[in-house]
Amino acid sequence: DETMKAKFLSHGHAKELFDSIEAFIFDCDGVIWKGDTLIDGVSQTLEMLRSKGKKLAFVTNNSTKSRRQYAKKFHSLGISVPEDEIFCSSFAASMYLKSINFPQDKKVYAFGEEGMLEELELAGYTGLGGPEDGKKVVELKANSLFEHDKSVGAVVVGLDQYINYYKLQYATLCIRENPGCLFIATNRDAVGNMTDLQEWPGAGCMVAAVCGSTEKEPIVVGKPSTFMMEFLLKKFNVTSSRMCMVGDRLDTDILFGQSAGCKTLLVLSGVTTQSILQDPSNEIQPDYYTEIQIQAEKTGFK
Ligand code: PLP
Ligand code: CA
Repeated sequence: DETMKAKFLSHGHAKELFDSIEAFIFDCDGVIWKGDTLIDGVSQTLEMLRSKGKKLAFVTNNSTKSRRQYAKKFHSLGISVPEDEIFCSSFAASMYLKSINFPQDKKVYAFGEEGMLEELELAGYTGLGGPEDGKKVVELKANSLFEHDKSVGAVVVGLDQYINYYKLQYATLCIRENPGCLFIATNRDAVGNMTDLQEWPGAGCMVAAVCGSTEKEPIVVGKPSTFMMEFLLKKFNVTSSRMCMVGDRLDTDILFGQSAGCKTLLVLSGVTTQSILQDPSNEIQPDYYTEIQIQAEKTGFK
């Protein structure tokens, strides 16, 4: 197909890619796992890459867990990944606040789950909200004010299974009424594989709710924003052309890699099918694509 620029990762292309790349950045859902199920061939691929001295990092837009919780998840799937190779969007939000010298005496409202609060606290911030506020119910009463903390200087919105009217009102008041309050989104994915067989509403849905009530647009720290890439470039200390982003989603992973000048490899084990890739309306083309993991035997990566 003339319109298709992505090259199928043949034996020859795999060698060419392997020889030119020092660091592989893996997206997680759809590449490493689907929900809580490990994708075939992943452990062998990672072991092979490590044995060849390749540097690895794992990037996920899912903000519900902290790096510590993701390291546990990897472990439970039988893969050993140190925390310092994990870049989740909950961590990215905390790193963003640090990067702008967000004052420690301001609080952060976490419109998200446990992992988001954990990363905020590890970065030295006082987090409010989180799972606790998921249990709260608002009472809409005449002559009664909904109180919010005026020292909240940032609201971070990510996936939140416990989204409710209380959190919506809290976040809305902080952003609309606290002077200079930041509105940060961990990511804007429409849906995510919360379970292996089905997609569920993603953080894009919570972010859109807060956009709706505040009439503001967030600062996005997850893919495809290149914010996390600055950390990856620093960590690896290699030029981006010697890094390869491996992902299953064109408009987040592949765009993320391309915007930073990395090589990109699309795996068809996640949300993108070959027909989406080849659809003439799709303008995002990875350098390479492969059916499932960069399977060692199949591609001659060994
Ligand atoms: N957001 C949610 C809520 C998800 O469940 C997922 C995948 O499971 C994602 C985002 C995307 O994660 P990743 O960036 O690892 O593909
Ligand atoms: Ca993915």
